[in-house]
Amino acid sequence: MTKSLVCLSYDFDALSIWIAKGLTSPTPLSRGAFGVVGVERILTLLEKEAVPGTFFIPGHTVETFPDPARAIHAAGHEIGHHGWTHRRPSDLSQDDEEAELLRGLDSLDRIIGVRPTGYRSPAWDLSPHSLDLLIANGFAYDSSLMGHDYLPYRPRRDMGAPLLEPTTFGAPVGLIEMPVAWSLDDFPMFEFAPTTTGMNPGLRSWKDALDNWIADYDWMRTHLEWGVITYTFHPFVSGRGHRMMAMEGLISHLKAHGAEFVTMADAARQAADRIDGP
Ligand SMILES: [Zn+2]
Repeated sequence: MTKSLVCLSYDFDALSIWIAKGLTSPTPLSRGAFGVVGVERILTLLEKEAVPGTFFIPGHTVETFPDPARAIHAAGHEIGHHGWTHRRPSDLSQDDEEAELLRGLDSLDRIIGVRPTGYRSPAWDLSPHSLDLLIANGFAYDSSLMGHDYLPYRPRRDMGAPLLEPTTFGAPVGLIEMPVAWSLDDFPMFEFAPTTTGMNPGLRSWKDALDNWIADYDWMRTHLEWGVITYTFHPFVSGRGHRMMAMEGLISHLKAHGAEFVTMADAARQAADRIDGP
């Protein structure tokens, strides 16, 4: 029987994403603060639909907005690690990356009382040290890579990618990778925002986004006996009215077409059982 798992994931970046970009004047900070409004609306929707979510929260957000962070946990959703600042690990030294990881764990423990099993790097850009740091700190899964769309896998360490030689791959590690994609993320579709190279135009129709997200699920459902699709939303992006319409429409379609909604930790456990075999 076909099993189509769906993970609704939410990156509660709030102010941290703008601060990491060096945008600290009142307007970008208020744009991040809108994430608190978005969280309220998303929690209401998830409760009404009785589906679980997985919220990746930077330590900066946990410490700045402790009450919404606690409300997410109290509602029964999974909490994942998303750095302390929103700096990408690939831009950090190994020592700074480890300090980020430990400080984030401390914030999640002190403010919410959770020890996450899942990690998602800010801006989806791991360093060569990330996988080993996650393993050393007891994580079960990462969600930052893009090597598949529907099948979690064991990521490989020590990739060598010299310009003039074939790329080599190291041994797979003990973590489960829960792959992501920009095409399954609300930010590129919707957010008018500066990038490292220019401006992301965003501001697309919610119906266009919904069409793409539904088509990716429908393809999985019709072609794979077992698969996981992971959608990524940001409360400060998708909390606005027309984008909530996209999320509502997505949940409605998925429910009508056999989806099983699970947390990412749950999907990672099921994937590990399949990868490791009986
Ligand atoms: Zn983020």
